[in-house]
Formats: sequence, C-alpha cells, structure tokens
Amino acid sequence: MTSAQHIVVIGAGTLGLATAFNLLERGRRVTVLEADSAASGSSGRSIGVVGTQHVDPFEIALRVRSVKQMMEWKQHGLQFHHIGYTRLGRTAGDLALFEKSVKLQAELGPTNARVLDPVAIKKLVPHISTDGLAGALFGPQDGFLDPHQYCSVLVDMVRARGGVVKQQCRVTAAERRQGGYRLRTSAGYVDADGVVLAPGPWASATAKLFGKTLTVIPERHQAVVIKLPAPLPYTMPMVMDYVPGTSSGTGLNFRHDRPGELIAETHRSYDTTGSDPDNYDQLLDDRTKDELAELLLERLPELSEAGFGRGWAGLYPKSPDGRPIVGPLSDDEPMLVAAAGAGGYGIQLSPIIGQLAADWITSGEPKAIPEAIRLKPSPARG
Ligand SMILES: Cc1cc2nc3c(=O)[nH]c(=O)nc-3n(C[C@H](O)[C@H](O)[C@H](O)COP(=O)(O)OP(=O)(O)OC[C@H]3O[C@@H](n4cnc5c(N)ncnc54)[C@H](O)[C@@H]3O)c2cc1C
Repeated sequence: MTSAQHIVVIGAGTLGLATAFNLLERGRRVTVLEADSAASGSSGRSIGVVGTQHVDPFEIALRVRSVKQMMEWKQHGLQFHHIGYTRLGRTAGDLALFEKSVKLQAELGPTNARVLDPVAIKKLVPHISTDGLAGALFGPQDGFLDPHQYCSVLVDMVRARGGVVKQQCRVTAAERRQGGYRLRTSAGYVDADGVVLAPGPWASATAKLFGKTLTVIPERHQAVVIKLPAPLPYTMPMVMDYVPGTSSGTGLNFRHDRPGELIAETHRSYDTTGSDPDNYDQLLDDRTKDELAELLLERLPELSEAGFGRGWAGLYPKSPDGRPIVGPLSDDEPMLVAAAGAGGYGIQLSPIIGQLAADWITSGEPKAIPEAIRLKPSPARG
C-alpha cells in the first residue's frame, strides 16, 4: 500500500490524460476513469493541429509551453508532423499583430516564426490565391499530430508510470467522504483524495454530479478530407484564414494530411445553442459542405478538380469567454479541479493545461504560468 494521494481524473481525452501524466510525475497515485475509450470524445474527432501562431500574448505563452512539452514527448513515440502553420492576414492591423507575435515568440521560444508577404506566401503554397491578403504569420515548427496516436502515447506514458486507465467506466454519481470523494461508476465505487474533471463536452453534466455549475457549451464543428487529383509536389502547411480577436478572415482552414489528401475545416459554427454530446449529428452537413466548397474554390482555385472524401462533425467544448477553464470549481474544495473548456484548441493546449491542473492539485496555484490564475473557474466567467 502506498500513502500517496489518490487522484481520479474523469475523462481520457487529451486534457485528462495530460493531467494524469503530470500528476504521476509529481508522485501522485492516479486513476483515469473513461466512460467509453480513450480519444472517443472531442479529441478523436479533431484535426490535430498544434502550433504557436496566435496573436494574444497570454495565448502565445500557453502554446509555447505546450509545444515545448510535445517536442519532449516525441521521445515517447509521439508523431508530430512539422508541416508549418500559416495564419493569413488582410489588413495592416493584422500585420502589426503578427509582428508583435513574432517578437514575443522569439523571446519565449524560439519558434522561428516570421511574417510573410504575399509573394512569400505564394512561394510556400503555390496553389493559393493571395487575393485580398496583406501577409501571413508563419511558424515552420508547427504542424499536426494524429489525435488517436497522441492519446494512445499518453495512455502508455500514464501506464508506464503506474497510473491506471479504466475504460468503459462512467462516473454516474459523486459524494463527499472524510477527506475526499466517493465516486459511483458503471464498474463499482472508487474513492479519491482529489478529482480532476476533464470530461470535454460533458463538463457541465459532470460538474452537476458534484453539485457544481460549470458552463461548457458543446459547439458542433465539421471537417472534411479533400481528395486531390494527384499528390502535390510540396507539403501544404496548415493554412488558417482567421485572426483571433478580430473580424479578419473566413474561418476556413486546411492542411496536408496524407499524400494526395488535405483536411479542411471551418472555424465558424452554426451551432449557436450547443449540442447534446450524447445525441448530435456526427456527419458533415450539406450547408457546411457547400460553404467549404465555395471557400476552398476561392482560396485554392487551382485545385478545383479536387473532390470531397470523408466528412465528420465533432464538438468544441467551449467556455463562455473562449478561454480554457483550469482550477478548483470552488475555493472551499481545492481538490476538485476542472480541466475543461479548451474549445477548438484542446489538442495543442493539452500539455500546459495538464501541467496547470496538476499544479492546482499539488500546490494550490498555477505554478507553471502564474498568470493562468485567470483560467480559474468563477461565476464571472459564466
Ligand atoms: C472538428 C474538430 C476539429 C478540431 N481541431 C483541433 C485542432 O486542430 N487543434 C486543437 O488543438 N483542437 C482541435 N479541436 C478541439 C479539440 O478536439 C478539443 O478541444 C479537445 O479534444 C478537448 O479534449 P478534452 O480532453 O477536454 O475532451 P474529450 O476528448 O471529449 O475527452 C473527454 C472524455 O471524458 C469522457 N467522459 C465524459 N463524461 C464522463 C463520465 N461521467 N465518466 C467517465 N468519463 C467521462 C468522454 O467519454 C471523453 O472521452 C477540434 C475539435 C473538432 C470537433
């Protein structure tokens, strides 16, 4: 028997597994309880893009830390495809934000990010139309990973450190007991000294089991494989037509997947009220298909012979203010911590969210990035 604190993590998506890994590194005993299988939630339905090309200083700091960690995890078998990330800009204001981002990334990284003019964009992506573009923010080290492979590497890393990952084990009720929690699950009772809630789009429902309020809106988003008539003679980097915090861009994004295939997605969603994670349409709908076709024709006119392959929908677990939610659900229960609400960025932010959630459990504060106190759940955040 070990006297180490036993922490239960609810959810084996990227956030839960990265948190479990960090807790084990700090000597805690960890059990991950997963209702279905690892990566069966939002994580497995994502397109796996990872990078630092943001324009908000705090968001850049989170991403630089995450990418550093992912680079280290390559030694555990993580396949990180460094195809580069290009964020398109249309205005002088966008370019000013890009220049600031490059400066900050050089201080925090280095990430080798740089600003491209339209000629350089065309050189990098010969099939792109640069109509309306003023330039781009480009990060050569960014790229993508297969979210299933990522989760399976994390499961292996957790198990290698003595952690337990129990799949097909749904938490159905929770009660307080002396110094901790007793969880009822579909496979019996589990006692814990602390609990981390990482249930993705099920976050609000899971918090309710503990009598807590946590607002996470499951927002439906869609992606599709683009079949090219022939493999490209270059690797298409991730191209994102959207500048966060501005109205610049259409939301279209696409990247290389396999030879002869791209994956495209739109950052925009028609899901204004949120979807039921247990019952939503998991297929690409015609409206989004038509919108993607139109946007792709406009941005990649020379690839007009391409066709659609498999399409699907998944859920962004979104917080009301668009930032992740990491920290205790209330001040009187420091060992009941949320790692949730990562929206459209829960793959790329998972390493730092895992560190911060583990910080809250082990130190009662977000040590890795003190400014991340702003990610703590609070009534003001909704
Ligand atoms: C189409 C699409 C594209 C995306 N592209 C990207 C991208 O390129 N880059 C990026 O960074 N992010 C992307 N995302 C967002 C990313 O997928 C999510 O932010 C991330 O997966 C959230 O991870 P999570 O661990 O919070 O949730 P999940 O992966 O949903 O994991 C939560 C887990 O908790 C389990 N669970 C829930 N309730 C219980 C319970 N009561 N008991 C036990 N287990 C429970 C669920 O079964 C689930 O497996 C995309 C999302 C979509 C839909």
